[in-house]
Amino acid sequence: MPTWTDLVDQSSLRESAGAEAFQKGQACLSDGCIGFVASTPREVTAVIRDGQVYNTIVRTVDGKLGWACSCGDVTREAPCRHVVALALALEQDPKLGH
Ligand SMILES: [Zn+2]
Repeated sequence: MPTWTDLVDQSSLRESAGAEAFQKGQACLSDGCIGFVASTPREVTAVIRDGQVYNTIVRTVDGKLGWACSCGDVTREAPCRHVVALALALEQDPKLGH
């Protein structure tokens, strides 16, 4: 099974999120926006504090990265800044939440 580090590809994440959301996600991560994290092998749920509190999910779907977020600023094709922050956190530390 691929690890989060295998699944998260920064350049394709930047491409799908767009440069602005990607940058905001990086800033959010370095600000320590990621709170409580719960994980299963295929899905990681995090509470992200970014002005408001959001529930953000990153999951593996058929060997690819999938996501969801309560901010509503997210589509199947385009992750929001919170998904970017969580995905980057997982790339850095695949054991996040374990
Ligand atoms: Zn979001």
